[in-house]
Amino acid sequence: MKKILVADDEEGIRILYKEELEEEGYEVKVAANGKEALALLTAFLPDLIILDIKMPDINGLDILQQIRTTFRDLPVILSSAYPEYQQNLATWASDAYVVKSSNLANLKAAIKKILGE
Ligand SMILES: [Mg+2]
Repeated sequence: MKKILVADDEEGIRILYKEELEEEGYEVKVAANGKEALALLTAFLPDLIILDIKMPDINGLDILQQIRTTFRDLPVILSSAYPEYQQNLATWASDAYVVKSSNLANLKAAIKKILGE
């Protein structure tokens, strides 16, 4: 079973993503902030991380930089309510960029493409 880590400071998003991705057959853990996300990276060893950009403690783009130095091959999907981040150079280090929506079709398609299923 592939493991996915969801890092997002919005509880509603964490609940929605966890529920829907578990239904897709993934093992899912959630982190409510950047610090938790970094701790779970080593404790949970996910196959993929869905990373919110705007979080109160550490910016998702900064976490992405850290991931690229320590977990170079870990697929990262950036998730934001703001499509303008897509133009940010820092997002180029991610494997996909998904604009947040209550319809998870785009997110699920990106996950399937990356995990090769
Ligand atoms: Mg947020």
